[in-house]
Amino acid sequence: MSALSIAVVGGGLLGRLLAWKLLQRGHRLCIFERGSRAAEQSAARIAASMLAPYTEVASAERQVFEWGLRALAWWPQHIAELGEATGVDITCRVDGSVVVAHELDQSTLAHFLQQLQAVVPDHLADVEQLTAARLAELEPELAGRYRNGLFLPHEGYLDNSALLRALERAIAELSGHWHEHVDVTDIEPGRLYAQGRWRDFDCVVDCRGIGAKGQLAGLRGVRGEVLWLRAPEVNLQRPVRLMHPRYKLYIAPRPDNRYVIGATEIESESMAPVTVRSHLELLSALYSLHSGFAEAEVEHAWSHCRPAMPNNLPVVMAEPGRLVVNGLYRHGYLLSPHVVEQALEKFDQGMCERVGAS
Ligand SMILES: Cc1cc2nc3c(=O)[nH]c(=O)nc-3n(C[C@H](O)[C@H](O)[C@H](O)COP(=O)(O)OP(=O)(O)OC[C@H]3O[C@@H](n4cnc5c(N)ncnc54)[C@H](O)[C@@H]3O)c2cc1C
Repeated sequence: MSALSIAVVGGGLLGRLLAWKLLQRGHRLCIFERGSRAAEQSAARIAASMLAPYTEVASAERQVFEWGLRALAWWPQHIAELGEATGVDITCRVDGSVVVAHELDQSTLAHFLQQLQAVVPDHLADVEQLTAARLAELEPELAGRYRNGLFLPHEGYLDNSALLRALERAIAELSGHWHEHVDVTDIEPGRLYAQGRWRDFDCVVDCRGIGAKGQLAGLRGVRGEVLWLRAPEVNLQRPVRLMHPRYKLYIAPRPDNRYVIGATEIESESMAPVTVRSHLELLSALYSLHSGFAEAEVEHAWSHCRPAMPNNLPVVMAEPGRLVVNGLYRHGYLLSPHVVEQALEKFDQGMCERVGAS
C-alpha cells in the first residue's frame, strides 16, 4: 500500500496508539487534539489502567473477557518496544490482582465467584480461592484484615502516565505532527473542519472519545471519578478490589508508593469536579481496607466520562476516507489491543482510504 495522508482526531488512548502504528506503516500523519499533547482532556489520563478481564466479568459480557485476554500479552510486548524506542520507563505488570470483602459483605464475594462460574466456567482453573495465609504471602499488608479472598493471577496494570508520554514521543520521532489546542468541529469522509476551514486527507481517523457525542449515534458518557494518592505507608504489590454491596473500590498501584483509587460509575455526562459524596465514599472504603492510607496525600481528584455505546461494546467503522473508533467505555486499556488490531486490519484491506487516494 502506498503512503497515505492521514489525520487522527483526538490524541487520547486510541488516537495515540493508532497514530503510532500507522506511522510505523509509513503513512504521513498528523494528530488534531483540542487539549495539549499532555492528554489533560482525555479519559486516558485519569484512568486506573488496570488490565482486568476476570474482575470485569462482574459488569461486562463474555466478549469483553475474550477480547481482553489479548491485552495481557499485547501490552508487555508493545510496552517493551515503546520503551526501547523512546527511553521512557513504563511499568507494566501482569502478576495478578486480589479481590477481598469485609466480613459482613462476604455474600458480595460469593456472588462475584458465581458470576465467574456463570460467564467463564472454562477459565475457573485460573481463579485461586485464597486462605488467610496465602493472602498474607501475596499482600502482606492485608494479612490479619481478611480471612479469605480471590487471586486472579492473569490480571495486571500499567502506568498510563508513562505510556501516554512514551506514545507522544514515539509519534514525534516518527515525524507525526501534533496540532494542539485545535477543536475539530466536523468530520466527513476525507476531510475535517477546524479553525474556520476544511482540510483534505486520504483518511480521517475519528478517535474523539466522548468528544464525538452528538455526531456518533448512540454514544453516551458515563461519569467516573478517581483519586490519585501518594501513600508512603502503604506497600501493595498489585491491584486490589474491595467488593461492597453499594460500590466497588479498587486500588491500582503506580511507581513510588502512588495509587489510583477508583472509581465511581454514574450515568451522567457531567464533567464537573469530583463531589464531596464521592470523596467520602471512596476514601472511607479505602480507609476500611488499609488504615495506612490515613496519612496519604491526595495529589489529584479527577473526573471524566467514559465513552460508551448502548451495548457498552466498542465500535470500529470504516468507509472510504473515514475510520471511526470509539465506545471503549470502562475498558480502554483492556480492549484497545483488540480494537487497534481490528482498525489496522481495515486499513490494510484498503477500506479506509478516500477513493482515488494516491
Ligand atoms: C475513572 C475512569 C477509570 C478508568 N479505568 C480504566 C481501567 O482501569 N482500565 C481500562 O481498561 N480502562 C479504564 N478506563 C477507560 C478508558 O480511560 C477509556 O475507555 C479510554 O480512555 C477511551 O479512549 P479514547 O481514546 O476513546 O478517549 P480519550 O482517552 O478520552 O481520548 C479522546 C481525545 O479526543 C480529544 N478530543 C475530543 N473531542 C475533540 C475535538 N472535537 N477535536 C479535537 N480533539 C478532541 C480529547 O481531548 C481527548 O484527548 C477508565 C475511565 C475512567 C473515566
